[in-house]
Amino acid sequence: MQEMTGKTVLITGASRGIGEAAAHVFAQAGANVVLTARSASQIQAIANDIGDKALAVTCDVANWSQVKAAVDLAIARFGAVDVLINNAGMIEPIGPISESDPADWAHVIDVNLKGVYYGARAVLPGMIGRGSGSILTISSGAAHHPLEGWAHYCTSKAGVHMFNEALHLENAGKGIRAIGLSPGTVATQMQREIKASGINAVAQLNWDDHIPPEWVARTLLWMCSEDADEFKGHEVSLRDVAIRKRAKVFE
Ligand code: NDP
Repeated sequence: MQEMTGKTVLITGASRGIGEAAAHVFAQAGANVVLTARSASQIQAIANDIGDKALAVTCDVANWSQVKAAVDLAIARFGAVDVLINNAGMIEPIGPISESDPADWAHVIDVNLKGVYYGARAVLPGMIGRGSGSILTISSGAAHHPLEGWAHYCTSKAGVHMFNEALHLENAGKGIRAIGLSPGTVATQMQREIKASGINAVAQLNWDDHIPPEWVARTLLWMCSEDADEFKGHEVSLRDVAIRKRAKVFE
């Protein structure tokens, strides 16, 4: 397991699913963990469970001032943010472009794409100043393939994919590791919402078809190691069995 003692990891969307699993895995690896999400009581309960090394900060990633304030609080408490995990995301409302509500559509872009930019923007000055840092961003197969009813989501994740490449281009020489992760389908609330929509092939999958969020969390931890350096500026795919082995997701 990658040793993270003394490192601080800020996770967006840590109230459930992949983000919650990541908080536990990184804490077990010795890291200080900063849990952020809109659900204040949920992140506080998870932080209480983890103990002194955890800090819960209520934060809507669609709001720049809140993201900046969360990063500032993390730095005030732990001294620095060494790893940012851009995980917060949403897929509702699922439906055809022709019937979509413009405000709802735009909100998904605000959360899934602008939220990723806000997180990176807030941590970069400190990371560049120290000459090191990892910015790990949850992408999706939807970044590369259109799916019916998911235009907002696919468009946002395609933007995230490009943002990761641009982040790498500008900052790799400054010691910043920017890596994306495409997890495949994961057994979380998001897949319950997809199932309930009944639209497209992903909604037809069974719960057993999805991987557990802990696998994604362990992969994120591995992505902080030198073994993952070859993926800087790219995306790791958890559909790749070789990656699952390297990341030791089954342990
Ligand atoms: P969940 O729905 O279980 O969790 C989503 C998390 O994002 C919650 O903690 C939620 O917290 C948070 N969130 C949503 N909106 C905001 C916001 N405006 N500000 C801050 N936090 C927010 O889904 P997953 O764990 O599955 O999703 C995590 C990431 O993984 C997402 O980026 C998703 O797109 C991606 N992904 C998931 C896949 C899957 O099959 N599950 C597949 C591919 C990618 P709260 O509501 O408390 O704010």
